[in-house]
Amino acid sequence: MKLAELQTPCYIVHKDILQEGIDLLHDALDTYWGNYICGYSFKTGSLPWALRFLEENGFYAEVVSEDEYRLAKHLGFDRVIYNGPVKGKESFFDALWRGAIINIDSKRELRWLKEYREANEGEEASYMIGLRVNFDLESDVPETSAGAEGSRFGFSYENGEFAEALAELDSMQVPLSGIHLHVGSRTRSVAIYEGIARMACRIKKEYALELKYVDIGGGYFGGMDDRPKYPDYMKAVAAILSDAFDPHDTTLIVEPGTSIITPPIDYMTSVVDVKDTYVKRIVTLDGSRIDVDPLHTKSSYFYEIVYGDGESVRKRKTVPEQVLCGMTCMENDRLTVLSDQPALMEGDRILMHKVGGYTMCLTPLFIRYFPTVYLEENGEHTVIREAWGPDEYCAKSSIIG
Ligand SMILES: *Cc1c(COP(=O)(O)O)cnc(C)c1O
Repeated sequence: MKLAELQTPCYIVHKDILQEGIDLLHDALDTYWGNYICGYSFKTGSLPWALRFLEENGFYAEVVSEDEYRLAKHLGFDRVIYNGPVKGKESFFDALWRGAIINIDSKRELRWLKEYREANEGEEASYMIGLRVNFDLESDVPETSAGAEGSRFGFSYENGEFAEALAELDSMQVPLSGIHLHVGSRTRSVAIYEGIARMACRIKKEYALELKYVDIGGGYFGGMDDRPKYPDYMKAVAAILSDAFDPHDTTLIVEPGTSIITPPIDYMTSVVDVKDTYVKRIVTLDGSRIDVDPLHTKSSYFYEIVYGDGESVRKRKTVPEQVLCGMTCMENDRLTVLSDQPALMEGDRILMHKVGGYTMCLTPLFIRYFPTVYLEENGEHTVIREAWGPDEYCAKSSIIG
C-alpha cells in the first residue's frame, strides 16, 4: 500500500529511521566505551513488532513491572534488565533463576533475594544484582524531573540507606554487580549524564566497589537536528567514567526509550468536516490528540499537511485561523491552530512526525479503540497491528445473557 491508500487514523513506523537510531547508538557506545549493553525501555512504547525488531538488534528488554517482564518473555527476549519500584515476586524469582540483570529498588526485594538465596543454597548464581541509587543530582545539575522534591526511586545515598542496602547484600554474600542511576530530567541535557557519571565514580571510590556494570538509564534525545545525539552523551559520560572505571572490567548499560522509538513513528489523520462557529473555523479530524499527546503536555508538533487535491491548493482561500480538533467528545481535544494557511477540506490529511514515545502506550480505550499501525519499508506499507474493535475490547470480559 502507498501512503495515500492507508486507512486513517493510523500510526506509521519507518523501519529505516528506527534502524538508523539503533546504529547510531551502537556506534557511539562502540567508539567511546566498547563494552556496553543496550536495554530498551518497554514502558516508552511497546508495540510488539518494534520490540521483536529491537531484540533482533541485540537489545535487552528493560522492564519495570511483572506484566512487562512477562511480555518480554512472551516475545522471546532471553536477556532482561528488571527495574522498577514494584516488581512482582514471581517474576523476581524467575528473573533470578534465568540470570537477569536486576536493579533492586525496595527493601522487600532485598528480603525476596534473601528468601531465594536460602531456598536455593549452593546454587551457582548467574544473576546480576544492582542497586538503584537515589541521590541529589538536582543540587549538581538543576534540571531533574523531580526537582527539589528529590526522586522517589532507589536507595538514598545521602541518608545512608544505600550503605545499609550494601551491607544487607554483604550479609547475604551476594556481590553487588552494578549500580543503576537513571534520573529523569526536564532537559535531556548532556550535563545530566555528566552528573550521573560523576556520582557513579564517587560511589565506586567511596565504597571501594568492584562493579561489573554502571547503568546510566535512559532519557536521551534522538533524531533531533538541534539537540544532543548519542555520540555527544557517550563521549561526555566516558570521559568522566574513565576516572574510576575501565571498560575492560565494567560494562556501561544504557536504557533508551524515547530517543529510539519517538523518531521513527508518524501518525496520520484525515479531515472529516469543516465548519464555522460564531468564533472559530473548526476542522474536525478522524484522529485525536489522545493518540499523539495523551498527557496533554505538548505545545507544538512536527507535522505536514497532505492536501487531498494537490493541484488546487494554490487556489484555496487563506484562512487566518483554523482549529484542528480531534474525534473524541472532549472540548480540549484540539491538536493545534493553523494560522494563515490554505483552507482545509474534507479528505486532506495531517501527517504528524516523531510521535512514537509515550503515545501508543498511554492511549486510552476512550470512545474509539486502538488505531491501525503500519510498517513503512521502501515506500510500501504493511499492517503490523490491526485496529482494535469490539472483539479485542471485550476479550476476557464476562457478558451476561
Ligand atoms: C523511563 C525510563 C527509561 C527510559 O526513558 P526515556 O525517557 O523513554 O528514554 C529508562 N530507564 C528507566 C529506569 C526508566 O524509568
